[in-house]
Amino acid sequence: MRIALFGPPGAGKGTQAKLLVKREGLTHISTGDIIRNAIRAESALGQEVRGYVEGGQLVPDDVVWKLAKEAINAQGNDNFILDGYPRTVKQAEWMEEYLEGIDRPLHAFVSLVVPDEQLVDRLSKRRIHAETGDTYHLEHKPPPPDVDASLIKQRADDKPEKVRERLSVYKEETQPVESYYREKGMLVEINGEGTFEEVYERIVHQIKERADI
Ligand code: ADP
Ligand code: ADP
Repeated sequence: MRIALFGPPGAGKGTQAKLLVKREGLTHISTGDIIRNAIRAESALGQEVRGYVEGGQLVPDDVVWKLAKEAINAQGNDNFILDGYPRTVKQAEWMEEYLEGIDRPLHAFVSLVVPDEQLVDRLSKRRIHAETGDTYHLEHKPPPPDVDASLIKQRADDKPEKVRERLSVYKEETQPVESYYREKGMLVEINGEGTFEEVYERIVHQIKERADI
């Protein structure tokens, strides 16, 4: 089963991807996580992309496609969830051509729909564990008491002015990807409001109709 989880920053892509990995045995490919790990490791790639990420901008298409392709190849191509890729029509075109070429097309393109006010709330209260990358929300999923509080951080790009920038980049550059998949008949729109479990059930219900997982 191969799917892409799509949606604006804060829609719940990472949260739902992790549940799908745990319960359905899929591999999680998050270009955001790959990029953040490179920045944390201060690798050449990390230095190249840091300015884009911290400024709330997209990393250039050719750089991200190379990372996504490596990650797809690294786990054998058969079962994966793409989280946060593709984010431009160019990225989608390159990936579709590649996946068709190796006879491993996506089964569904799942778009989480969440109103802007909710996104701002989710992003402003999102916190990340600096070492494990685990994601929390100050109200809906607070860090457990046994976790060292000094390791719980806010992402630099989750500060209010960067959130506004990212939502506007999403509308201009990323949202058109939805029409691309709608035209291919692969778009599955899911209401992303409600509890983690409610959203999860909606996703699983829809994707199980499209492929056996
Ligand atoms: P969110 O979970 O808030 O949607 P991500 O963790 O997926 O954000 O991505 C964080 C940042 O990493 C993005 O704002 C962007 O700078 C970069 N990034 C991740 N995926 C892509 C992509 N497919 N294309 C371009 N930039 C990306
Ligand atoms: P994305 O990967 O799309 O940027 P995340 O999965 O990181 O989104 O979720 C953004 C924030 O919202 C996190 O703090 C997460 O714990 C929280 N969150 C995710 N899903 C829900 C939900 N259904 N209801 C409330 N908060 C949620």
